[in-house]
Amino acid sequence: MEVYSDWYYGIEKRITWQKDTLSEKDYQKYKLDLLLCLARRVDSFSALCTECQNRKQEITALTNDLANLSLMSKEAKKSYFKAIGDITKHLQKQHKLVTEGQYIGIGMAIGSGVGVALSAALEGAGLPIGIGIGAAFGFYLDAKAKREGRVICPKKKKTALASRKIFIAVILGVLMLAGLIAFILGEPFG
Ligand SMILES: [Zn+2]
Repeated sequence: MEVYSDWYYGIEKRITWQKDTLSEKDYQKYKLDLLLCLARRVDSFSALCTECQNRKQEITALTNDLANLSLMSKEAKKSYFKAIGDITKHLQKQHKLVTEGQYIGIGMAIGSGVGVALSAALEGAGLPIGIGIGAAFGFYLDAKAKREGRVICPKKKKTALASRKIFIAVILGVLMLAGLIAFILGEPFG
């Protein structure tokens, strides 16, 4: 088991305290689970990475702000979310970590692009085939990243299963829609 610094345990304590005071909705809205994951990651890299060292101070400031959420201005909230985004980006770029489902999104985007490009050759079936292959490949890479412990904030088992079901439903929906569009578009030439 990995051992973290006193700093991390201090952050964990504060966030856990917020969990008791904030509503479930606000807890989700302010991405406190993610913030805790970011703190854990940044802590483990900070011995070797100056930016992660600086980010620790930023995270401390962010958790301080949480204590008076109701007093936070719109601007302050904006910079709060921006800071979370920036820390995530740093972990992705510098430390090769990924967010949950990151590759599926990329795979589907690339797949649909390639699919459209090939749709003339594949008689309109390019899009669903492209998305299907892209999603499958992305799904594989996401599972691999999870096994390697590279997912910044892996979901708990229960939600992971739920999101997998949603994912399959979305894929089927997209495929059916793409097939329908291909069918309609293909009709005049068929
Ligand atoms: Zn770093």
